[in-house]
Amino acid sequence: MKFDATIIGGGLAGLICGIKLGEAGLRCAIVSRGQSALHFSSGSLDLLSHLADGTPISDIETGLCELASRSPEHPYAQLGTAAVLNYADETEALLARAGLTLQGHWRYAHSRLTPLGLWRTAWLSQQDAPCAPLTGKRIRVVGIAGFLDFEPLMVAEGLKQQNIDADTAELALPVLDVLRQNPSEFRSVNIARMLDDPRYTQQLLQELTALASGYDALLLPAVVGLEQPGLPAQLQQALPCALHFIPTLPPSVPGMRMYNALARYFRKCGGIIMDGDAVTSVTHDTSGLHQVWTRNHGDIPLKARHVVLASGSFFSNGLVAERQRVREAIFDLDLHDYAAGGDWSHPDFFHSQPWQSIGVKTNAQLQPARHGEVVAGLYAIGTVLGGFDPISQGCGGGVCAITALHAAQQIITTGSRL
Ligand SMILES: Cc1cc2nc3c(=O)[nH]c(=O)nc-3n(C[C@H](O)[C@H](O)[C@H](O)COP(=O)(O)OP(=O)(O)OC[C@H]3O[C@@H](n4cnc5c(N)ncnc54)[C@H](O)[C@@H]3O)c2cc1C
Repeated sequence: MKFDATIIGGGLAGLICGIKLGEAGLRCAIVSRGQSALHFSSGSLDLLSHLADGTPISDIETGLCELASRSPEHPYAQLGTAAVLNYADETEALLARAGLTLQGHWRYAHSRLTPLGLWRTAWLSQQDAPCAPLTGKRIRVVGIAGFLDFEPLMVAEGLKQQNIDADTAELALPVLDVLRQNPSEFRSVNIARMLDDPRYTQQLLQELTALASGYDALLLPAVVGLEQPGLPAQLQQALPCALHFIPTLPPSVPGMRMYNALARYFRKCGGIIMDGDAVTSVTHDTSGLHQVWTRNHGDIPLKARHVVLASGSFFSNGLVAERQRVREAIFDLDLHDYAAGGDWSHPDFFHSQPWQSIGVKTNAQLQPARHGEVVAGLYAIGTVLGGFDPISQGCGGGVCAITALHAAQQIITTGSRL
């Protein structure tokens, strides 16, 4: 099997890179071992909310210029402000082509409500996510009887502390009794699979209508719209007040909705996803093509002119922590090692953690090196990269999308097809 490009990892970075390559007519395969961070995420994407020292960013262009001078190892600094903003524009258009209706624009960061009832800065959020301002509105936070992965009282309390008028209520939804019998089954994804069934829409709507009177907005856990992405909008149209959905504890319906849309569109662009397979090693044949060896394909390698490493961070085992060092799992690539000679963690849990910034080091074309030598035809993208802290800098989704598009651009520019 020969491909123009083989991508290792089918998370946000791998899928966006694959889509751009597919749209450009390149033959592309993604090998992906398992679930990605998207399945656990809020379904909102962050671009850049803070500098490394914790300074909040209000204007993204100014923030990127500051970042370039203070954190030159950050992937955005390597690409340059103009390129980052061009790719941010391109990301928004690509996600729309993939069928994702999102609110937000890189120039105007917004605040989305978290399950703790607090605000978090975001770049793009799903259309039905609750975003600021809610001030002056009468809000009802609605839980589901027996569902433990969402706590309406916590959300309402968070809102009240900001002087927002909020109370709580509960949906009974007897249709879910079959899931209630087993607490490990009573999770957001299983609830969504039931509530997405059109047979139960009327029952859901009746209970919601009874709770809506006198309120400006109902806030629900995100438990609809997995198989039927149009259902949240359909419910909204039938209700007399606004309806928003807050992500629950993982697995996350909004994150999975984003994954499903991207995977569907990647396949539509001609891409192949080898789900549940794992890349074990990469070698070269005599003609210089990469030979990508996988667990399921045994002694038949996938051949590709370009390989993109999008295997994620520690969470997805793209990076592995050993007793003495951190290692990139497939190629043993050179890393930004912030922890060398220092502690991997900071004693204050809420402080930026040094281990978060460990990851693959690349040049400005996102080409990594091994023992100081650039590996030809290999690119690294997404959270396998080092030089940034996706949590404290609020830039995880943005780094994935922007580095994915940049690597794809390098591959397209070389113009080599099999
Ligand atoms: C729990 C969690 C929640 C997050 N929430 C947000 C959020 O709300 N907003 C935001 O902007 N950012 C969030 N982030 C940051 C997040 O990391 C990025 O947004 C992004 O989704 C990461 O994408 P990725 O493609 O780099 O890696 P991943 O999503 O980790 O995907 C890597 C993929 O590579 C596969 N893989 C690894 N090794 C191999 C191999 N050898 N062979 C084949 N496949 C392999 C893995 O199975 C996985 O599917 C979150 C991160 C985590 C961990």
